[in-house]
Amino acid sequence: MLLGNGSSATIDFMKWIAGLIMLSVVGEARQLTGHTVLLQPIVLCDDEGKSAAKANLSEALIDLPFRRWDVDFQILEPIRWNRREFRDGESDVDVIVKKATEEGVFRHPGRIANMVFAKKINGRPAPNGLGQQPGWVTFIAQAGNSPLGQDAFVVIHEVSHNLGLAHSVDDNEVPNDVPNVMGDGDFMDRIREDGITRNQAATILKSPLVRETVRCLNGDEARKAYLDENFEFYYDRLNRREVEAMTGKIMPKELDGAGVKAEARKRYEAAVVDFSKEEREVLLWMVGEFRKVLVGEFPLLANQPWELLKVKGDHCAGFPHTRGLSVVLSEKAVDRMMGKFKMHGKTKRALEGVSTILVHEQFHVLQRCYPEKFARLYTEIYGLLDGVVAENHWVAANEISNPDGLDGNRWVIPHEGQFYWMKTMLKIEDEPARMPQSFREGVFPLDKRGKEYVTQSGGEGKPPKQVSGEVILKWKEQFPIRVGHDHPNEISAYLFQAELGRLLKGMKPSEDEMTRKTMAWCRKELR
Ligand SMILES: [Zn+2]
Repeated sequence: MLLGNGSSATIDFMKWIAGLIMLSVVGEARQLTGHTVLLQPIVLCDDEGKSAAKANLSEALIDLPFRRWDVDFQILEPIRWNRREFRDGESDVDVIVKKATEEGVFRHPGRIANMVFAKKINGRPAPNGLGQQPGWVTFIAQAGNSPLGQDAFVVIHEVSHNLGLAHSVDDNEVPNDVPNVMGDGDFMDRIREDGITRNQAATILKSPLVRETVRCLNGDEARKAYLDENFEFYYDRLNRREVEAMTGKIMPKELDGAGVKAEARKRYEAAVVDFSKEEREVLLWMVGEFRKVLVGEFPLLANQPWELLKVKGDHCAGFPHTRGLSVVLSEKAVDRMMGKFKMHGKTKRALEGVSTILVHEQFHVLQRCYPEKFARLYTEIYGLLDGVVAENHWVAANEISNPDGLDGNRWVIPHEGQFYWMKTMLKIEDEPARMPQSFREGVFPLDKRGKEYVTQSGGEGKPPKQVSGEVILKWKEQFPIRVGHDHPNEISAYLFQAELGRLLKGMKPSEDEMTRKTMAWCRKELR
C-alpha cells in the first residue's frame, strides 16, 4: 500500500479534534454490536525476546469507521514471536507466513485477523503495510514518530484489505474525492465515521473474519469448535483417569499418551448435539438480555463473541465449561434454562439462577482471550504468586484438569510463610473414577527452587506430601464461595456471577471485600 502525506502544520488542531473524537468514541463503545472481528497482534522481537517492533493499536480509533456498520473490533492480547530476521524484514513475507503456519503461531487461520508487527516489511522501512485481499494475514511496520492517526490508519487500511476491500482508485463504487479508508487524504479524515461507504460495508459483512456476535453452533461447526486447540492445548494433556470420569466409560489400559488423546477426542466429538430451534431462540434471547445488562459497565464482556454449543447430558456429568471461544452447555443445563423460561417467559426472573451460568462461562472465554489482564487481578488483588510449579507425575496422572483454568501449574498460594498448590484430584481408591463423586481437594505444600516451585517428597515411592485443606482455610475464607478455590479463573467468575445474580434480583451490591474489589477491577478493566 501507499501512505498519503500526513500534514504536520495543523497537528495541534488535529490533537484537539482527536480529543473530541475519543470522547464520542468512549460513549459509543458502550453500545452493543451485532458483528465482531477478532484481531490477533503478533509482535516480532529479536531472538532473545527483546526490542519488540512497535505495535500501537488504539481500539477506539480502529473501531471508528466500522461502528456505523455494526462491526466491532476486539483486539486480543499480543503474541510475541522472537525472530530478529523476520522483525527486520530480511525474509520475504511468504517465508514468514509459511514459518508461522508450521510453528502454529497464527490464531484461527481464516477466521481471526492475524496482524504481524515488524520493523521492516520485505526490506522496506516503516511506515508501511501489506495485507492479503481478501485474507486473514497482514504485516504492519509503524514508524517511531508517527503523525496523529497514522498508526491507526495503517492498521485499518490493511485489515480492510483482509476484509475484501480494494484501493479506492481500483474500486468503481468508491468516489476518489472523498476521504476513505482505502483512499488518500489526511489520516484522521480517512478513518473517521464515514470512512467506509455502504458498498464497502456490504463487502466487509460477507467476510469470514466478521462473526455474528451471538451464535448457537450446530453440526460440524460445533464439533470443530469443541475439538479446537488453537487457543490452548486440552486433549494433549488429559490423563486416562480423567477421561474415564468425564466420559463415564473405561479406557483400555494399554493406551499410551497419544492413544488416550485420540480416544478422548473421539468421545468428545461424539458428545456434541444440536440445539433445537426453540432452544436456540430462548438462548439467543437470554444472551441478548445479559448483554444489555452488561454493556454499560463491562462492554468488553458484552461485545466479546458469544458462541454456544451443546453436548449430551451425561458428558462431563453435565457441568458447563468452555473450549476456545465457545461456551459448552450440557443437555441438562439447557433443559434447566428452558424450564426457567417456560415458567417465567421473557422476564427478568427467567435470567436468574441457572441462567447466569451463561455469563459465568462467557467470563471464562474472556479470561482465555486476556490472560495477562486477568493475571494482574490474581496477583495484585487475590495475592497469588504467578509462578511455575514443576510437573509431578503422580499429580498429573491423578488430577482432573479444569477446562476453564488450564494453566493449573502456575498459581501458587502464599499463606503463613509457606507456599501451597491447590488441585482437584481423583480419589485413588475409585477405579474407574466418577464425576463428581471421585473429586477431592488436593493441597500440596511447595518449596521454592530457583525460579520453580516443587512439591515436597511424601517418602520413598509415595505421592508428594499433602496437607488438609484446613491448613489454608483462612486463605480460602477470604472468598465467599463454596467451591472453585483451586483456580483464580473460577474465583473471579463465581464472584462476578453472584454479583450479577444480586443485581437481577434488585438487591444491593455485596459488602464482601473481595467481591467489591473484584467488581471494581472489572469496571476498570472490562471496558
Ligand atoms: Zn467456572
